[in-house]
Amino acid sequence: MLLDLRTIYFIVAVSCFVLGILQLAAYATGRFERWPLWWGLSNILVGVGSFLVALRNLVPYSVSIDGGNVVTIAGYMLMFFAVRVFSGRALEQRYFWLAIFLVSVPVALIVRDPSAVSARLLYVSVICCLCDLAVAGEAIGIARRERLYSAALLVGLYVCTASIFAVRSVLAATGEIGGPDPFGSSVVHSWMAVSAVAFIMLRSMAMVLMAAERSRNQLTELAHHDPLTGALNRGGLAQHLPALNSQPVSLLIIDIDHFKQLNDRHGHAAGDDILRLFASVSRGIMRSDDLLARQGGDEFLAVLKNFSLEDAVVIAERIRLAFAAAVMQRPDLAVFPTLSIGVAACGQNGGDFERLMQKADEALYRSKREGRNRVEAFGETHQAA
Ligand code: GH3
Ligand code: MG
Repeated sequence: MLLDLRTIYFIVAVSCFVLGILQLAAYATGRFERWPLWWGLSNILVGVGSFLVALRNLVPYSVSIDGGNVVTIAGYMLMFFAVRVFSGRALEQRYFWLAIFLVSVPVALIVRDPSAVSARLLYVSVICCLCDLAVAGEAIGIARRERLYSAALLVGLYVCTASIFAVRSVLAATGEIGGPDPFGSSVVHSWMAVSAVAFIMLRSMAMVLMAAERSRNQLTELAHHDPLTGALNRGGLAQHLPALNSQPVSLLIIDIDHFKQLNDRHGHAAGDDILRLFASVSRGIMRSDDLLARQGGDEFLAVLKNFSLEDAVVIAERIRLAFAAAVMQRPDLAVFPTLSIGVAACGQNGGDFERLMQKADEALYRSKREGRNRVEAFGETHQAA
């Protein structure tokens, strides 16, 4: 069935205007990041471009076709810019505008001949296909870095539209579409244009989903971590407890010695620095899937997965020495804090984490009693939890 391409272009234009205005209004509330500004502008530009193209034969050619294609390409490229801004890798704006200028100018100059419809369609389709692939690539990066499932959705949508533009390029190159009357000659072309409306909507929805998923992840991150040291807080550690109860783990309870004295002598800011220093030294020694949690004040837990008690004692000793060495690098300090560490381990099949904490706590208190700045392992009964 042949659909009226001019009407479809008008529908694309109106859809883009509505979405663009909505996104700009969202940005104007000041409650969102900067990307809705660029995404909204991109929709407005694609809307203006489609509107101008829809006016073909009704207004001067230079306005409808030259103007329409230039503005559409600018809008398309701006979409890529918006996704870069979303991913926090914004491009230098002046280079971006220069790129838009360099890419859109050939539409007006090289394919100026009004009868060269296929050539123009080919050029615009190739540029749009490349833009879509660039956005898909950017979305793959977002999905990997931030583990956003909705970014995978965006990749799928942009791969679909890139494929549609690739087919459109082939059809334009072979002269299948874009004849003397491009608005009434091709069934395929008209259905491709219809699909554009659906994809424009779906892409905007996917972007909103991505923003929602990111903000949920950020809230969870904030709720589960100590803002000073970045270590897990109690709530964050509690999320891992079910898994910890079913695998062999070793636990270090670490307390900074004479921390109160350091605070009194050098102030709380210096104390905060030392807490951060401790967290960074420990993370440097622990593996990426081990857990560091702040129990409160100057007390931390380090959970080492699949570690025997003996190996955990070695790690504890390394943390103690590395922290002492790092503190000695601070010539401004008159009080040099050290670490007391209690270590306990559970058996091969895991065990009760609460019980493990009691054992490590006992070992820590022995370490404090016996003079601080030392590592103590839980008694002789450490073989099984
Ligand atoms: P001990 O050797 O027995 O461990 O003694 P201590 O001086 O380390 O004393 P204790 O562990 O009882 O005191 C911890 C201090 O940590 C008390 C509190 O004022 C301070 N503190 C708790 N949270 C923070 C924080 O976020 N920043 C700073 N700078 N100090 C904190
Ligand atoms: Mg202490």
